[in-house]
Amino acid sequence: MTYGRLIRIAIISTLSIFALVIFFISGNHEWIEKNYATAFYPKLASTLRLIFGWFPFSLGDIIYSIVTISVLWQIGKFVVRLFHKTDSWRKKLTPLLTAGIILLAVYVYFYLFWGLNYYRKGIEHQLGLKNAKFAKEQLIGLNMFLLTELNNRKEICLKKKDTIMSRERMFQSARDGYSQLEQQFPYMRYRYSSLKPSMFGRVGNYIGFQGYYNPFTGEGQVNTAIPNFLQPYVTCHEMAHQIGYASESEANFVGFLAATHSSDTLMQYSSYLDMFMYAWGNLRAVDSTAAKEFGTKLHEGVKRDLKTYRKYVEDHRTFVSDWTDFLYDYYLKQNRQRKGIESYGEVTGWLIAYRKKYNK
Ligand SMILES: [Zn+2]
Repeated sequence: MTYGRLIRIAIISTLSIFALVIFFISGNHEWIEKNYATAFYPKLASTLRLIFGWFPFSLGDIIYSIVTISVLWQIGKFVVRLFHKTDSWRKKLTPLLTAGIILLAVYVYFYLFWGLNYYRKGIEHQLGLKNAKFAKEQLIGLNMFLLTELNNRKEICLKKKDTIMSRERMFQSARDGYSQLEQQFPYMRYRYSSLKPSMFGRVGNYIGFQGYYNPFTGEGQVNTAIPNFLQPYVTCHEMAHQIGYASESEANFVGFLAATHSSDTLMQYSSYLDMFMYAWGNLRAVDSTAAKEFGTKLHEGVKRDLKTYRKYVEDHRTFVSDWTDFLYDYYLKQNRQRKGIESYGEVTGWLIAYRKKYNK
């Protein structure tokens, strides 16, 4: 056996053992919450942020690019060799095996460095909230609350002529929101900032992402090519992923808590707008007349922003975004988010439960 082959077997065996460990521990939510999500992971993530946060560009995006190019390169090599009649099957299949090893390594790294947070107990356990079914009256109450707060923030911002947020202010306000939030919920502590614009912003508009967490480097990425009024809330959502809330509805909820704990009105506006869109959408599904009524009560400035947002979505809708939506939906469903992409909207349930418990 050649030396190279021996190394390959050793790598595959080690990665497979790790993959098996991930598979078995992911079933024990209690263990994950206690030993991973609130013990090992926060230390690991803050260390990554400390090491990579100061780089002016996203190292994680570069790693993503290298991995993608390497896998595509190996697949390309395999296709070319398929047409080489003189090549043995072993030689033909070697690039596929290499691509498989790279993907297995990414899988293991991804779950060990962040993805196991999908299997934690999370908000329900920490805040004693239950994201259960809610009555229509509760949903109407939530819509009323969000609409009032939203209109109020818009009025204040327009009066101050404060409608655009610079990147620096956005990241600072988000950090301030988390510092305030930590006073109430110490486990939502965020240390060592690592927030960066995504290198794939314009492409991202067509793929359909507003931000993402980079588990390789702990960086929080914000797509700064989306409408400005969406970005502050997206920043808080990505920070929630950074501190270990992998579930999208929980990241939405924690992001909302942080944004509304910030003293920056524009940051608050951004989060109320996002939450209203979810709650309003839920209401539309059960009572379209009531939802229409809420639409007429929106501040003219909010209506303008919603129009901008709709135009942005329409302008970037392509067959690529339909495909990536389909794949992302599948990915989420495989990671304990039953409703796939629609699980983002489950934040409504958290908001109703939170308002009930804390009389907000
Ligand atoms: Zn997210």
